[in-house]
Amino acid sequence: MDWDALYSSAFEAVKSRIMRVGRVLLAYNTNIDAIKYLDGRDLEERVNKAGKDEVLRYSDELPGRIESVPQLLGSILWSIKRGKAAELFIEDCPTRFHMKRWGWDELRMGGQVGIMANLLGGVYGVPVIAHVPQLSRLQAGLFKDGPIYVPKLEDGTVKLIHPRNFGGDEESCIHFIYEFPRGFRVFDFEAPRENRFIGAADDYNTTLFIRDEFRENFEKIAESSSLAIISGLQALTKENYREPFEIIGGHLKALNELEIPVHLEFAFTPDETVRKAILDLLGKFWSVGLNEVELASIMEVMGEKGLAEKLLANDPVDPIAVTEAMFKLAEKTRVRRIHFHTYGYYLALTDYKGEFVRDALLFAALAAAAKAKLGDVRSIDDVVKAMDVPVNEKAESVEAALVREYGMRNGIAELDGYQLAFIPTKIVAKPKSTVGIGDTISSSAFVGEFALR
Ligand code: ADP
Repeated sequence: MDWDALYSSAFEAVKSRIMRVGRVLLAYNTNIDAIKYLDGRDLEERVNKAGKDEVLRYSDELPGRIESVPQLLGSILWSIKRGKAAELFIEDCPTRFHMKRWGWDELRMGGQVGIMANLLGGVYGVPVIAHVPQLSRLQAGLFKDGPIYVPKLEDGTVKLIHPRNFGGDEESCIHFIYEFPRGFRVFDFEAPRENRFIGAADDYNTTLFIRDEFRENFEKIAESSSLAIISGLQALTKENYREPFEIIGGHLKALNELEIPVHLEFAFTPDETVRKAILDLLGKFWSVGLNEVELASIMEVMGEKGLAEKLLANDPVDPIAVTEAMFKLAEKTRVRRIHFHTYGYYLALTDYKGEFVRDALLFAALAAAAKAKLGDVRSIDDVVKAMDVPVNEKAESVEAALVREYGMRNGIAELDGYQLAFIPTKIVAKPKSTVGIGDTISSSAFVGEFALR
C-alpha cells in the first residue's frame, strides 16, 4: 500500500474543504494547565518544612483527595517513586494557596474543550462555540486568535464573543502539573521513568458545572451549529453525576432534534457507575472517540472481561480484538461511528460507507504527527510538515491481520453491515509534545469527515 500517496491526497482534500463544515459547538471542560518542572532541592526543602515523617507516609499510599500540604507533597513523591502518573482533587484552600505561590514554569490551555477550540478555531479557522465554566483573565489569555466564541448574555439576548472580550473576572480553574524526568532524585528516591503528578484546584470542571448561558439558552446556541463535540464527563462520581447527566440528556435531545451530529470524546472514567451511565447515553451520539485503555474499560462494564484483557495484552494492540470490541459496542448502543486510536494505528467502525472515513483518519494522523513533531501547530499548513515522518512499520502486521480476517483492501473492509476503516499512523520518534494529542486526533477526524462529505 502506498500510504504516503493517500496521506497527501487526504490532506489536500480536507484542507480545501474544511471551511465548509460550519460551526462546531464544544462542551463542557476548559481549564488552565500550570506546568511546574520539579527541582529536587526545592522539593526536599518543602518536605522538610511540612514535616518529613508525615509526608513520607503519604508517599506509600495516595489519599483519595488532598486536604493538606503534607498530603500534596507525599502524593508528588508517590508519583516520583513509581514513575507513575496520578491525578487528585485539591480540596482545601491553604493547599491551593501553597501551590499558587510555588508557581509554575509554563501555562497551557487545558481541558478537551479548550484544546479543541484552539485547534479547530485557532489553527484550522473553523468557527467554534466553547463552553468555558469559568472565564478568568488567565484563562481568557490562553485562547488563540480566530473564530472562537463564548456566549454572553446581554440584555437577555445571547451574544457570541471571543473569550478575551468576555470581560469577566471569574475564577481560575488550575490543574497544577508537577513534572519530573526519568532519573529525577529526591531524598533516596529515583524516578524510574518520566511522568507527572496532577493536582486539580478546580471546583467547576471536576463536577461538570454548566453555565447559565448554556442551561437557559442551549437551543439558541446550538441552532447556529453544524456539529458538536462533548467531553469532560470523566471526573464525575456516583455521588454527583445525576444532575449534570440530566442536563446533558436535555442538550443531546435538543441537538438530535436539530439533526446536529454529536461526537463524544471519551476519557478514562474511573467511576464504574458513571462509565455505565455514559454507556447508556451513547446511543444519543453520532460518534465516539477512544483509546485502548478506554475501550477496555467499557468492555469491563459490559461484562466482557476476557476481551478487555486482550485489548491490553499486546503491543501493537491486537486489531481483531479491537474490531470485536467496537462491534459489540456498536451493536449494544447503536452509536453510528466509533473511532479507535492507539500508538501506531487508528480504526473507525461506521454504519455508513465511504473512503472519506479513512481519509479523515489520515488527516487526523498527520495533524497528530505535526503536533508531536512541532510542539505547537500554528496553521493548517503546518500539518503537512509531518509528511516526512515515516509511516509506522509495526502497523504492517496489523494491516496484514485485517486483510486476512476481513478481506480489507486499501484500508477498508465491510463486515455485517458496517464499514471498518484502518490507517497506519506516522510516529514521531522524539516528540516535542504529546499533551492533548488524543483530542487533536479525535476532533480532526470527526470534523475532517464532515468536511469531506
Ligand atoms: P492523551 O490523553 O495524552 O491525549 P491518548 O491516549 O488519548 O492520550 O492519545 C495518545 C495517542 O497519540 C496515541 O493513541 C497515539 O496514536 C498518538 N501518539 C502518541 N505518541 C505519538 C508520537 N510520538 N507520534 C505520533 N502519534 C503519537
